[in-house]
Amino acid sequence: MNKIKLVFATNNAHKLEEVSQMLGDRYEIVGLQQIGCNKAIPETAYTLEGNALIKAPYVEEKYGFDCFADDTGLEVEALGNEPGVYSARYAGIDKDSEANMNKVLAKLEGQANRNARFRTVIAYVTDAGETLFDGIVEGEILTEKRGGKGFGYDPIFMPKGFDVTFAEMDAASKNEISHRGRATRLFIASFGK
Ligand code: IMP
Repeated sequence: MNKIKLVFATNNAHKLEEVSQMLGDRYEIVGLQQIGCNKAIPETAYTLEGNALIKAPYVEEKYGFDCFADDTGLEVEALGNEPGVYSARYAGIDKDSEANMNKVLAKLEGQANRNARFRTVIAYVTDAGETLFDGIVEGEILTEKRGGKGFGYDPIFMPKGFDVTFAEMDAASKNEISHRGRATRLFIASFGK
């Protein structure tokens, strides 16, 4: 049986493995490195949709494979949905999670409205066109960090209906309710799974 090859426009091995497992044996999911794309595709858009729609069409046009790309942001209501598309580099240095969380906590000091959500957008591009999938998890920002699991803003984010942060959940429980889990399941459901 010939596998259907899809490129995931990422170099994150963990994300690749997660989606491969969810899609199952009929699909071969490869990352950017495996198609010889070693260039960091610039994420210069002002929205999550915009960035996902830079990365996936870039690969589809240049390499000719059906491709999907994701982009995620933390949207804090009292901060006008910041850090949003700038989540990875909110405090200035790319992926400095401690500094990013400290900046959010400092900006929310004394703020009663702690509402926030994570949002993931997946863009899927084939020669037939583009489709977007959106996954959201609502929650709140605590006043201090809790837990050592996960990554990014997990220690300060408590999902609605839970009394633990994402950083206090195991990966499987987080995946069941998370923004990325939801967007990925919608994407996969579009293949009839
Ligand atoms: P990316 O688009 O998946 O690379 O995510 C951009 C940034 O959002 C990351 O660098 C993290 O700071 C943050 N982020 C994305 N997903 C999560 C998550 O599940 N938990 C906490 N932070 C996240």
